[in-house]
Amino acid sequence: MTEPTPWQHLGGPSHVMRSTAARALVNIGLVVGSERALVVDTGCGPRHATEILAGVRTVTKLPLVVANTHAHWDHFFGNAVFKHDGVSDFWAHAAARRDMTVTGESQRDAVSGVEPEMAAGEGPGTDLVLPTRVVRQGPVVLDLGNLSVTLFTLGPAHTEGDLLVGAPGVLFAGDVLEEGAEPQFGDADRGGWIRVLRMLAGMGGEYPVMVPGHGNPVTADFAARMADAMDRGAFRKAR
Ligand SMILES: [Zn+2]
Repeated sequence: MTEPTPWQHLGGPSHVMRSTAARALVNIGLVVGSERALVVDTGCGPRHATEILAGVRTVTKLPLVVANTHAHWDHFFGNAVFKHDGVSDFWAHAAARRDMTVTGESQRDAVSGVEPEMAAGEGPGTDLVLPTRVVRQGPVVLDLGNLSVTLFTLGPAHTEGDLLVGAPGVLFAGDVLEEGAEPQFGDADRGGWIRVLRMLAGMGGEYPVMVPGHGNPVTADFAARMADAMDRGAFRKAR
C-alpha cells in the first residue's frame, strides 16, 4: 500500500529508518542480533507502526524487543502494533513510563491529522501500550544474541525520562539530539540537557555515529555544538 520505507545501514548490526513525510519525521532504529532484534521507537500510531513493522520484516524475521526513547507520541504511539505482533518486552526509562501513563491520553490530539484512529482511540492498534520493563539509574545490557546493546540514562534533558540506546559504534539518542530542526523544550530541563550533551560530546570514541530523534545521523561534535548553542541561550524562542 505504501512504498517501502528506506533503511540506512549504519554499519554492523544497526540501521535507521527515516519515516515517510506523511508521518512525523521520526527516526526508527533497528539493531539485529543473532536471536533477537531491537526496535528503537515505534512511531505515532497504528498506520505508521504498520509501515515500520513491515520495514523491519524486510530486514529480519527474528523476535523483536522494543525500546521507547521517551514519552512523546511519535516515539511510542505505535507500541500496540508491535504488541499485537508478539512483542512482550517494551523498555523505557521509569520516568518516561510514568509520563506516558499520565499524559498519554492527552497526547492523542497531536496525531489527529496523520493518525485519526489513534487520535480517537478507536480501532485496532490504538491502545496505549505502556513499557513493561524499565531502566532506572543503572544501565541495562540486553543480549540480542552475539551482540549486546546498552540501555542507559544520563539524566533529565529533552525530557525527564530520556533513554539512550548504545549499540556497537552507534548511539540512538532520541530527541536529546535534534538534527535539522530546533530542539523541543516543552518538557525539557535546559541545564540538564546541556550537561547531557557535554557528556555525549565526550562519547565519540565509543559511538562514532549518533542517531538523533529526527534528522540525519551525526557525530559527537554535533552534540558539542548543540550544547554550546544552548549554553549561549540559542533556541530561546523554541517551544
Ligand atoms: Zn520528543
